[in-house]
Amino acid sequence: MILFKNCRIIKELTEGYEGEFADILINGDDIIERIDKPGTIEAEGAFIVDAKNNTVLPGFFELHTHLCITDMNYHRLGTMSQAENAIEALSFAREYLKQGYTTIRDAGTIHNVTAELKRAKARGTVNIPDIISSGQIITPTENGNATFANMYYEADSPYEVRKGCRKQFELGNDIIKCMLTGAYLNEAGNPGESIMMEDELLEAVKVAKMKGGYVMGHAHGAEGIKLGIKCGVRTIEHGSFIDDEAIDMLKASNKTFLVPTAAIGLACLDDDGASLSEDMMDKSKRYELAEKAAVNKAYRAGLKLGFGSDIDKENFIRYPGMEFYARTEWFDFEYKDILIQATKNSAEIAGLAEEKGTIKVGKRGELVVIEGNPDEDIYKMKKMPLYVYFQGELIEN
Ligand SMILES: [Zn+2]
Repeated sequence: MILFKNCRIIKELTEGYEGEFADILINGDDIIERIDKPGTIEAEGAFIVDAKNNTVLPGFFELHTHLCITDMNYHRLGTMSQAENAIEALSFAREYLKQGYTTIRDAGTIHNVTAELKRAKARGTVNIPDIISSGQIITPTENGNATFANMYYEADSPYEVRKGCRKQFELGNDIIKCMLTGAYLNEAGNPGESIMMEDELLEAVKVAKMKGGYVMGHAHGAEGIKLGIKCGVRTIEHGSFIDDEAIDMLKASNKTFLVPTAAIGLACLDDDGASLSEDMMDKSKRYELAEKAAVNKAYRAGLKLGFGSDIDKENFIRYPGMEFYARTEWFDFEYKDILIQATKNSAEIAGLAEEKGTIKVGKRGELVVIEGNPDEDIYKMKKMPLYVYFQGELIEN
């Protein structure tokens, strides 16, 4: 048992409790057993953490990462051994936990590393966040696929897509990632251009459904976004050039959600050609304002947005909390909404709202203590959390 005392709570993220401060008791099965007024819970033998009136949040979700990506020199991936790749991915997963992330959705890997990490976690070998893994990315033959070593599985007909999707599930992955449009960071890729055919995407959605998963669809261009919604993908990743029609379609849908990614945009401009090619830099600069305006419009329309960063390990470690403050700088989101996106919204989008996403009696005890009031100043997220509690491990930073 572990008792968190004197927790400043955020009402929207703490269900079934009124009041500004609380003590939170997590039982031996890591389930939240009681939330009550400070000083009222007697729990003999419990380990006590005094949050000292700092803010306590539920564990964060990262809905878009690539655990195998170590830095922005993407071509380096092709020179790494499988062992190096696995070790780097494991340490990236641990860094996520230290920053308060307890659920990670991996959007594409090489050497099937993320499914292996899940297996290692299930064996009890490593304590890392819960991972939702998509394996290799299903994509048509396209410009720039070779940028990311063997991260892509090329498939050019419904039958090839069927084979590719089945392969990912065979390897132990949970969901499917598809490329519906070109990408900024694929050499000579055109982000606005649709690349996947309707019959191919429908096939991926069908196979994923049969296997109890779903499809996450990479889409920048508006037509690709609309195809994704029409075919029933669970998430639209990035959504950079989303238009009014697509926003209306998402508003009317309770099946498909937008996961914008802000930190990667910030990181690309900061890189300024140090690691990225001229083609990648050119696209990042050219589309910056259009992307900011489009995603801000989707936000103002009231869409339920998920939380994804797409950031590499090097930037993730150098700039703690990057996706949190990037969302205000890049998309002009409100501070408290950003915290809700990272927890409650993303848990719902990932289908895990029964057990995660808010602090509530009966849900999993995954808590993050942040110094100060991040709902009033999102830059508080730049500092590492004071404490992270997850599955029996208390991390003190
Ligand atoms: Zn990505």
